[in-house]
Amino acid sequence: MFAKIPSLFTDRKLSFKITISFLGLLLLTVAILYLIFFNLAQKYFFSMEGIEVGARVQKISSLLTEPMVSNSPKKIQELTETLSFTYGSTIWVINKDGEVIAATNEDVRNNLNLEEPEIKGVLNGNVVTKQVAGPNHNIVFNVVPIRDGESETVVGAVAVTSSLGRLNNIMANMARYAFYAIIVLIPFALIVGTIISRIISRPIEKMSEVAQEISDGNFTKRVDYKANGELEHLIGTFNLAVSKVVESLEEKDKLMKLQNDFLSNISHEFRSPLTSLRGFLELLEDNKINPQEDRNYINIMLQDTLHLNRLVEDLINLSSLQSGHISLKLSPIMANELLEWIQQRYIPQAEEKGISLNVSLLADSPLITVDKDRIHQVLINLIDNAFRYTTTAEVIKVYAQVIPDANEITIYVQDSGQGIPSNHLQHIWDKFYKVEEARTRTDTGSGIGLAIVKQIVEMHKGRVSVESIPKKGSIFSFTLPIA
Ligand code: ADP
Repeated sequence: MFAKIPSLFTDRKLSFKITISFLGLLLLTVAILYLIFFNLAQKYFFSMEGIEVGARVQKISSLLTEPMVSNSPKKIQELTETLSFTYGSTIWVINKDGEVIAATNEDVRNNLNLEEPEIKGVLNGNVVTKQVAGPNHNIVFNVVPIRDGESETVVGAVAVTSSLGRLNNIMANMARYAFYAIIVLIPFALIVGTIISRIISRPIEKMSEVAQEISDGNFTKRVDYKANGELEHLIGTFNLAVSKVVESLEEKDKLMKLQNDFLSNISHEFRSPLTSLRGFLELLEDNKINPQEDRNYINIMLQDTLHLNRLVEDLINLSSLQSGHISLKLSPIMANELLEWIQQRYIPQAEEKGISLNVSLLADSPLITVDKDRIHQVLINLIDNAFRYTTTAEVIKVYAQVIPDANEITIYVQDSGQGIPSNHLQHIWDKFYKVEEARTRTDTGSGIGLAIVKQIVEMHKGRVSVESIPKKGSIFSFTLPIA
């Protein structure tokens, strides 16, 4: 049963807990204040009463001295009764042997219960104050020794009552005011507690609602609540944490999508030449084509194999470049050396294709620090493309320009080929991106060549660029820092 009490509280809403705690705290404060005041009032009353009763008792004891000394029990009893009437107090007298010799109220006398040591103490000159254990505990006895006026020896003792009625009245009033205070404070505590609990719990409830919506898949949701201080900071941190988690999830999704695209692109690239090869091989197996007569088919099979070979090489190249494990083998080289190398390598191909290849050397060739083989790869990819997308009897120009202020050199590969529509230009540097898929396909490129170019140039802290006009031609260029 007791175990259920905390759960009745802990299972409740935060606002309920705050309100109840606030109310409890307030009531506890009132109770403690009441007890403190009660104690102080009691002490004050006793000290005030003590002074008054002390004076009264001294007077009574001095009046009793004479009959006590003359030892006249009758006189003592009469005087006791008169004094009792005068002061409105019960009076009780003992002689120096501790025997009761006069008393105005038998009940009080029985209830007084003075212990032997107390009586002895009083007869030795001490004062004893004792609360009578009667109904309401509202009587206090002050017991003082009676001294002989001349010899100052103790001749007996007198006990005089003093009523606690006034104190009881004060206490009753205080209890009544405490009760009124509680009655007024309960609604006040409930209102203030509710306001405080709303201030604290509302943002937390809001956050919990938003967290629920986010976990239901609404990733755009954020806590939109105006708070101050720590709560404002808490909401800000919560929103930031959610944004970061969502960002990293989106990043992961993007990565997954890239991986999936990559795989489907690779399989797509492999599928068409492999299907073509398989078809021809099956025809060969069934003797439906004759390798001697149908040279054309053999040629297509060779092209497919070369394409597959180039694809695999490009893939290996790109993945090793992108892995970041490759470091460049940098060495200084004259820019014109690269241009001359192009001339030597491509003149036969240009002649064969009937394309005019125009390579211009620089008058003042700068020294550049590059990985020669990698830059050769860049030039091969750009010039191969220029040949591939430029039909017979057209021009390919290769030239360079030094930008002295920026300490850079740009190498251009310009063709008068089919060009690229502007909406494709921003994508052509992406892996597997092919304009041919949008236009009639005439070649079996893999869409990786330009991605490799971009990767290598950026590894040299350079940048790539392209300008193109459909049916007029393209200018591909890359810029490198001059060492
Ligand atoms: P691919 O191996 O298919 O040529 P690239 O990455 O080298 O792949 O080129 C991407 C696409 O850019 C090509 O599919 C092609 O459509 C287009 N492209 C590249 N160079 C040229 C060019 N000189 N003229 C016209 N289009 C080009």
